[in-house]
Amino acid sequence: MKYDVVVVGGGPGGLAAASAAKKAGAEKVLVLERESRAGGILNQCIHDGFGLIRYKKTLTGPEYAARAIAEAEECGVEIRPDSMVIDMTSDRTVTAVDRSGLHVYEAGAVVLATGCRERTRGAVVIPGSRPAGVFTAGVVQNFVNCRNVMIGKRVVILGSGDIGLIMARRLTLEGAKVLAVVELMQTSGGLQRNISQCLYDFGIPLYTGHTVSNIFGGKKLTGVEISKVDENLSPIPESAWTIDCDALVLSVGLIPENEVAKAAKVELDARTNGTVTDEYMQTSVPGVFSCGNSHAVMDLVDFVSAQGETAGKNAAAFLSGKEMTPWVLSRLSEPAKGLPEKDALNCILCPNGCRLHYEADGSISGNKCKRGIDYAKQERTDPVRNLTFTVRTESGKLVPVRTAKPISQVRIMEAAGILQTMTLPDGKYTCEQVILSDFMGTELIATSNIDTQ
Ligand SMILES: Cc1cc2nc3c(=O)[nH]c(=O)nc-3n(C[C@H](O)[C@H](O)[C@H](O)COP(=O)(O)OP(=O)(O)OC[C@H]3O[C@@H](n4cnc5c(N)ncnc54)[C@H](O)[C@@H]3O)c2cc1C
Ligand code: SF4
Repeated sequence: MKYDVVVVGGGPGGLAAASAAKKAGAEKVLVLERESRAGGILNQCIHDGFGLIRYKKTLTGPEYAARAIAEAEECGVEIRPDSMVIDMTSDRTVTAVDRSGLHVYEAGAVVLATGCRERTRGAVVIPGSRPAGVFTAGVVQNFVNCRNVMIGKRVVILGSGDIGLIMARRLTLEGAKVLAVVELMQTSGGLQRNISQCLYDFGIPLYTGHTVSNIFGGKKLTGVEISKVDENLSPIPESAWTIDCDALVLSVGLIPENEVAKAAKVELDARTNGTVTDEYMQTSVPGVFSCGNSHAVMDLVDFVSAQGETAGKNAAAFLSGKEMTPWVLSRLSEPAKGLPEKDALNCILCPNGCRLHYEADGSISGNKCKRGIDYAKQERTDPVRNLTFTVRTESGKLVPVRTAKPISQVRIMEAAGILQTMTLPDGKYTCEQVILSDFMGTELIATSNIDTQ
């Protein structure tokens, strides 16, 4: 089968590339996605915080994915889920397998958008036994948010990047006790807003400059040893103490996924495993482009989509011989990472994480926009938070949901408890569908287009 552009991977990068290729004149554009639906990692990220730059709204991962899928479908992109690409040659012949067998696609241009995978226990070399109960954060996210499987009751998390922080809150809302988030470095690599709303809101302790130095348990995990680290990041034995726990979650980094790129002899960066590209997102193999986390792991999905657009547009330009467009990362401001300032209020409404101060005359300072003033006033009276959660259906599947408006922060655990006991009928749910018209003073709405039957 011949296609103008074949995109490998149906995450936000691949979907944006496909839509852009189509808009730029490529006629037959195909997205091959190994999972049963497009959307990539976003489908399991039920928390909000996506799309502030691209859509000027704070969306959940599935909501952002639904928009990207709708855009691609409206452009006439063909999306083929359950299709795993198993091989590709340098002349852009792509081989995929699905339930009906092997398929070979001859592509005028290819965009690789295969995302990333997680670093595992082997990569961080933690001594100790090998019991059940040690997971990577992405696997936990998939179990809890997509498969309705809880991983433990007493949890320790190693790594305080955004994924670790988000899972600390998510597991707490599901009823687990998160006993510690442990961070090797002296500060966190996560966004300040995530430290505030995922750890501080729930009183979860963060130990920076520490690591998990031992793992205990026979068949099942029974505990972990935590130690301070010295200036070489080695554990200091005298500082060690033990925490009894039944789950250890490793959130210790992401590595670009590039097996397909390797098969086509695309040059990879030996240090990061990301693809090496020129400014047009073209790899060392002519006509093969790369974008998103398989090129270099990015913290904001908005930039992944923007980069995907450049790659897709240039794939179409490669076909027609038109001039290509260089990729420019347009950051309006740097997201605030690390520990929030002690003497300021950290605004959690966007990644800028402004440090707000209450002045003696009653005014608020430190805000980059007016929303910070409203936030600071609300925090003084009745702090409010968005709640994102999942609700079970009769068959045990999960529908991601959120409150239409933020609810009182002191009632978040109560609200989560109510949603845990709710059961929905099986059927088709769509983004923004009202599930409950009055839940904690607002509506409860679905955040995914999902068929649970
Ligand atoms: C836990 C977590 C929390 C995050 N939180 C935020 C946040 O709050 N705000 C924000 O802006 N960003 C956030 N991000 C970042 C953002 O979501 C990702 O950077 C973005 O989804 C990456 O898009 P991608 O298309 O490059 O990769 P992915 O979304 O990973 O998509 C890659 C796709 O390729 C498919 N694929 C791989 N290999 C093959 C193959 N051989 N054949 C067929 N298909 C294949 C995969 O199945 C997958 O669907 C978060 C990321 C994670 C992991
Ligand atoms: S004050 Fe405005 S710019 Fe600053 S973090 Fe809050 S919402 Fe973002």
